[in-house]
Amino acid sequence: MIDFSLKPKTLKAIKVARENAQYVRTLARYYDENEHAEMKEDEKEKLKANVATLLKVLAEPGEGEGQFLTNIILGENRSWGDPVTGGAIATTGLGNAAIRAVATPEQRKRFDSLYCAMAITEPGCGSDTSAVSTTAKLDPETKEWIINGEKIFVTSGKRCNAVVVWATLDKSKGRAAIKSFVVEKFRKGISMTKLEHKLGIRASDTAVILLEDCRIPYDNILGSPEIKEAKGGQVGVLATFDATRPGVAAQGIGVGRAALEFTKEKLEETGVTFPYDRGLHSLSAVQKEILDMEANLDAARLLVWQSASLLDKAQRNSLESSMGKAKAGKAITQICQRCVALLGPLGYSRDWLVEKWMRDCKINDIYEGTGQIQMLIVCRQILGFSRAQLK
Ligand SMILES: Cc1cc2nc3c(=O)[nH]c(=O)nc-3n(C[C@H](O)[C@H](O)[C@H](O)COP(=O)(O)OP(=O)(O)OC[C@H]3O[C@@H](n4cnc5c(N)ncnc54)[C@H](O)[C@@H]3O)c2cc1C
Repeated sequence: MIDFSLKPKTLKAIKVARENAQYVRTLARYYDENEHAEMKEDEKEKLKANVATLLKVLAEPGEGEGQFLTNIILGENRSWGDPVTGGAIATTGLGNAAIRAVATPEQRKRFDSLYCAMAITEPGCGSDTSAVSTTAKLDPETKEWIINGEKIFVTSGKRCNAVVVWATLDKSKGRAAIKSFVVEKFRKGISMTKLEHKLGIRASDTAVILLEDCRIPYDNILGSPEIKEAKGGQVGVLATFDATRPGVAAQGIGVGRAALEFTKEKLEETGVTFPYDRGLHSLSAVQKEILDMEANLDAARLLVWQSASLLDKAQRNSLESSMGKAKAGKAITQICQRCVALLGPLGYSRDWLVEKWMRDCKINDIYEGTGQIQMLIVCRQILGFSRAQLK
């Protein structure tokens, strides 16, 4: 039986996260308009103090939700303020989730203090991750891995201290030969060659990373170097998506919720009410549309919470995490677009943040696997088809 009535400690943490998010929201427009600007020191200090208060609440005695569910609930609330502006003080990235999912205890200790980005995408490899062509070769004399390749669209590629790089040990062996490697930024042969200019999430740095004969210690490989198909379909590195997709979906839900709440408030100021106890026939088109969008957002949230709570129970959640991400990506894209339209010209203006939320939310239906790819994964799992049967 699934019960998502939250514990008092979680509710208290949400309240603090929301207060922090209010502050972040005041910074959001500046860092959207000044893409790649470094955050001011006094703002960083304030954000750090906010996070410290939140951590204090989480450390208080008393039962809370599991760690994964707590993270995605707080992630949604943080994102309600802004999905990326608070990232200026982030100490963990997508690569850290990968490390947590597959690293040995020794590696976790070694890499724990690093802010790690995740680099899968290449000029010739996106949705189909089996096309990774970055190579990792073992130097038998020095026992080092030598990495060569180009990674594009690496989130936090500039700010991070290390990159979790997907590379193949043997291209002819397909997916099973793809492994992930932690490449610290101080290594010779790793460089950032470009920063992207983007439609949305402009406070987040997205970079091109070049690896040229980059040597890393043997123990920087995550998981086993053995090339063999994992039982149960999911091959080692792909399992990390199960842990990262709920977070990406929650980030999007925070943005969708921000847009919907703001739009409702503005409509209420013009006299529109939102009755929850009336039949469809007595609602206006605008009332019905808002209530439909709320229901859609709630449905997405519940799916995402379910996928996170499975992780907390150490249960397989591939199906649920893809369902949650697919549903959230679609729901928020539609919600943000409709909110811009419902607010008329001001919705389109830079006076308000709704147009920004519309640009920001699109990414949640793209990175960590597009909406179409999530639907493929869901269909394969429900219908029992293999990759070859349904592509
Ligand atoms: C801002 C930003 C940040 C990013 N951050 C990272 C990061 O940190 N690390 C990283 O590795 N990557 C990152 N990416 C890359 C992102 O994960 C990829 O863009 C995404 O996986 C899609 O790959 P692609 O762009 O090559 O599209 P393609 O794979 O070329 O797909 C193009 C279109 O075709 C559709 N499509 C593809 N295959 C199928 C199919 N079989 N059936 C139906 N439709 C299909 C896709 O859904 C998509 O709409 C980022 C991208 C952006 C824009």
